[in-house]
Amino acid sequence: MFIEVVGSSGSKNIDNRLVCMRLGERVLIDAGCAALIPGPELDLVDVVLLTHAHLDHILDLGFILDSMVSRRTRPLVVMGSEACLNIVKSHYMNGLLWPDFSRIRIEGKAILEYRVLQDEVWTALPGDVECMAVPVNHPAGARGFLFRHAEGIVVYSGDTGPTDKLWRMANKQGELIAVVIEVSFPDSKRDIAMASDHLCPSLAADELNKLGSSDIPVHVFHMKPWFSDEIIAELDLPGIQTIFLKSGYRIEFT
Ligand SMILES: [Zn+2]
Ligand SMILES: [Zn+2]
Repeated sequence: MFIEVVGSSGSKNIDNRLVCMRLGERVLIDAGCAALIPGPELDLVDVVLLTHAHLDHILDLGFILDSMVSRRTRPLVVMGSEACLNIVKSHYMNGLLWPDFSRIRIEGKAILEYRVLQDEVWTALPGDVECMAVPVNHPAGARGFLFRHAEGIVVYSGDTGPTDKLWRMANKQGELIAVVIEVSFPDSKRDIAMASDHLCPSLAADELNKLGSSDIPVHVFHMKPWFSDEIIAELDLPGIQTIFLKSGYRIEFT
């Protein structure tokens, strides 16, 4: 099992792709830049797991569905909190801004199926991995995730400001092998981070202190690209291996 970065940025420009990660071959975490995944790899995807309904995380959902309509007969299952899925249905795939693909049937089957992800229980995903959604401190139905595989557990913050439950649930589970945490702003913009329910380096350090173990590699994503140099310079976590996620990077569950 692996998490492979398709895009990891907190915004979009010529050098930076919006958030989308492959969780094994059959699951995507968010769909910000999912349309950049090559067709043969995209054809393997059965589930898109949404952290929340902000545009930078769902943007390419409409475009991958558009490409799938003529290429496959099995549905793409989109999973997320009830609030998140309701926003996607009402404000994006609503037949106005973009087609309602859940009403389009190919050989009698819907091309898009929504499935609400229950909080704080393990849900099986394709590829021998389970996921637990935990509410975090961010709008648009936001959830962080724990991913459990035979080799251990990965904590994935999604977008969030300071939060407690995710770290508490992580501490209750078995062996943690990696953390993926958002850091959107530098410390000089701590007030903006707080106001927009995101993290800056000092806030992220406080969050990581809530974890019981400190020898787990920390993977950073969702940096606003115009602040990335500043964030990288500031994010000094003594004794912790810090990796700034880029497209193509793979976290192996080993
Ligand atoms: Zn967000
Ligand atoms: Zn975001």
